[in-house]
Amino acid sequence: PASSESFERQALIDLEAVRHNVRHFLEVAQPARVMAVVKADGYGHGAVPVAKAALEAGAAWLGVAHITEALALRAAGIDAPILAWLHTPESDFTAALTANVDIGISGWEIDHVAAAAKEVQRPARVHLKIDTGMGRNGCTPERWEELIGQATAYQEEGLLRVVGVFSHLAVADEPRRPETDEQIDRFRDAVALAEDAGLDLEVRHLANTPGTLSRPDAHFDMVRVGLGIYGLSPFENERPADLKLRPAMTLRSRVANCKRVLQGQGVSYGLRYKTDAPSTLVLVPMGYGDGIPRTASGAQVEIGGKRYDVVGRVAMDQFVVDLRTAESPDLVGEEVTLFGPGEDAPGAEDWAAAAGTINYEIVTRISPRVPRVYV
Ligand code: PLP
Repeated sequence: PASSESFERQALIDLEAVRHNVRHFLEVAQPARVMAVVKADGYGHGAVPVAKAALEAGAAWLGVAHITEALALRAAGIDAPILAWLHTPESDFTAALTANVDIGISGWEIDHVAAAAKEVQRPARVHLKIDTGMGRNGCTPERWEELIGQATAYQEEGLLRVVGVFSHLAVADEPRRPETDEQIDRFRDAVALAEDAGLDLEVRHLANTPGTLSRPDAHFDMVRVGLGIYGLSPFENERPADLKLRPAMTLRSRVANCKRVLQGQGVSYGLRYKTDAPSTLVLVPMGYGDGIPRTASGAQVEIGGKRYDVVGRVAMDQFVVDLRTAESPDLVGEEVTLFGPGEDAPGAEDWAAAAGTINYEIVTRISPRVPRVYV
């Protein structure tokens, strides 16, 4: 069993950091409420422990993509309001209603949800989703009144209760882009149409992490915060500390091999890297089988308070670090931090930059092979 001290590979999750981040968002968003978004196993951090920590800190709701994710939270004994927003006709709406899970509706789902409500003989709690510009899920503005009409009719039959209207922002991580203004305007219009039709809404919600941090006018009654509760920054030029956030995940391992090599030693598949002088190569037993990006040229790790470069290709189970000295002591067994909140260690955003991706993907892809340990 993994503990926080005895480990070979570990994603150490600091739940106090999660609670701190949630409290920060409560303050930023107040009087709006906070929905903690814990889809994709809590962005790789573990949905159940993160959800419990977020609720303890004052989050009022939980958000997930799939009904299956919501049911897993219920199975863990969590009874807070949960919204699931991404479905197919194969989704188990009956199970969702039985478990008291709120359902996001973009269009076709409404008939399926009403049928499920008839079956379980209780009204479904639904949130209607308007596509204000993202072009993914959500009802187009052109069809919005029709969807409201359907919802109102089902509500009168006692099959639905429309508790929310929501939408999702596409470019809030780039605060200067004008499309966010357009999305906010369309959202206001959509909410007004729903209210004019007599729908008595509990919550109107639009903002994700970047929207919450950069657009107070997008807060409405509730903000849906994912990345931020894990302590990561959605903005390219701002690090977590600049936003008063504390990264919750530390990804660490131990040195598996440490050896002196000559100048010109090739490293890993393809031999794309060669040492330019006699050096010491350190082997880290983590690879793409653990969710480390295969191409992370320029990534660094921290060993003993210093940063070193990852060199050569990341393989399935391992990668190599060049210490760029022939004078190193034997480091086998020493702790290696790939990323974490410490000042010395790289951040998930540094690995993202090296791999040409975003910090969301770095943490979310850490595979089940890496034990999650909670402190
Ligand atoms: N709301 C919806 C509908 C989402 O799909 C997501 C995640 O992509 C979020 C909120 C949370 O976004 P973020 O992680 O940027 O806070």
